[in-house]
Amino acid sequence: MTAADREAQVIDQVSKQLFIGGQWRDAGSGATFKVEDPATGAVLCEVADAGTDDAFAALDAASAAQPSWAKHPPRERGEILRRAYELLIERQDDLGLLMTLEMGKPLAEAKGEIAYAAEFFRWFAEEAVRIEGGFSISPNGQARFLIMRQPVGPTMLITPWNFPMAMGTRKIGPAVAAGCTMVLKPAHQTPLCALALADILREAGLPDGVLSVLPTTDPGAVTEPLLRDGRIRKVSFTGSTAVGRTLLEQSAGQVLRTSMELGGNAPFLVFDDADLDAAVDGAMQAKMRNIGEACTAANRMYVHAGVAEEFARRLSERMGALRIGRGTEDGVQVGPLIDDRARRKVQGLVDDAVGRGAKVLIGGEPGDGAGYFYRPTVLADVPQSSELSHTEIFGPVAPIIPFETEEEAIAEANDTEFGLVSYVFTQNLGRAFRVSEALETGMVGLNQGIVSNPAAPFGGVKHSGLGREGGRVGIEEFLETKYVGIGGV
Ligand code: NAP
Repeated sequence: MTAADREAQVIDQVSKQLFIGGQWRDAGSGATFKVEDPATGAVLCEVADAGTDDAFAALDAASAAQPSWAKHPPRERGEILRRAYELLIERQDDLGLLMTLEMGKPLAEAKGEIAYAAEFFRWFAEEAVRIEGGFSISPNGQARFLIMRQPVGPTMLITPWNFPMAMGTRKIGPAVAAGCTMVLKPAHQTPLCALALADILREAGLPDGVLSVLPTTDPGAVTEPLLRDGRIRKVSFTGSTAVGRTLLEQSAGQVLRTSMELGGNAPFLVFDDADLDAAVDGAMQAKMRNIGEACTAANRMYVHAGVAEEFARRLSERMGALRIGRGTEDGVQVGPLIDDRARRKVQGLVDDAVGRGAKVLIGGEPGDGAGYFYRPTVLADVPQSSELSHTEIFGPVAPIIPFETEEEAIAEANDTEFGLVSYVFTQNLGRAFRVSEALETGMVGLNQGIVSNPAAPFGGVKHSGLGREGGRVGIEEFLETKYVGIGGV
């Protein structure tokens, strides 16, 4: 089979229809939209384009299924997730290729994301049977308190394109474990991974109506009427802070529970006592995972002035050696950005920094070819006043900002409305604790460039969001606490 035949086969295997109440169906309007390969600009296929009527059909299904799903034995809910975990791993090669085709990341990274995504199902399969309540005696001894945990009810899940499989499983896993039904709206650039995931969950035994998946080019028409309806009880969103704010406003009317995984602007701090090899390795991971299109991406590299030049030299060498190209090709390490708008934004931020005095060590311009490629870029002596100090770059650009003192580094790192993650490289134990405590972020990578792990609580503070996904607390987002006061004892 040729490579082109295999790509066509992988696309053919996925349903292009909406998944509503356990059935595959066309959009009520009959509309479809095109899914593009960002490495070539070619159209991969067309997918049904959901509208408001389809959204209400999905909500009807979710509401109808909620009471019986809440009573479904936790062990069986966990076993559905466990089977889905196994199916994801079994089909890792095909699903990885599917992801590379619609999103652009290199195949090895796409397969890595399938494994990462699957781990959320394995983790929450184990959590489904560990939902604990409580019992206690009132302080005056005259009553008993029984604490129950119950599913919050039907939920709206909204996911971005950058991790099209893992952002789905990170929400679906805890919702299934807790006993919530779901309406999922994936990003319009990457509907195929979400549709493939729906099919896997159906095959794993998820009852009809528990999950519906609605690709659309008109997100507001699908999500807003549902958030205002009253039957949806929670919204879990991953995406930009701007859209998160809009969803929070729309959720206020029905006083919905909300989980918001929003934008980042991660500072990456390298002190002069750091192991420089480890810092450069960490910088490559924190910057180049997912072509720089990650909320956790190192956005600003604050490096002590005494080691800044050497750090920049080593980082430029590593960045310059990366192979750029279509993610399906062997050995490619940097794929295209998601679209032309994203590439123009990255170029604008680089031009602004250079205009303010930053030096381009390597890159600083688009790559060749029809796709939305941008060359791995290192900028030295970037002034803190640059736009990219305050804006999420979402591309393969590493700006290096030298600092003199620990206090200055912390103040500049915290000088942002965002607070998702920060990275610290130092071998001084006291400094490691001091700086980790002082940084205003939900997560800190200490001498490591990756923090994402299904078994750890992922999330941000300030404008980076509300709530946590993964870890022991991930399921809490989908559970209500009820207390029964027992008198006459
Ligand atoms: P986005 O524009 O906010 O889109 C995210 C999702 O929201 C997509 O499904 C999008 O649908 C949908 N959406 C857009 N406008 C909407 C509206 N008015 N009502 C309802 N839904 C709407 O973000 P993006 O550019 O795709 O993703 C990148 C952002 O996600 C970055 O800021 C990144 O930091 C953040 N992110 C955060 C985390 C985290 O865990 N904190 C993880 C990954 C990404 P369409 O595709 O149809 O526009």
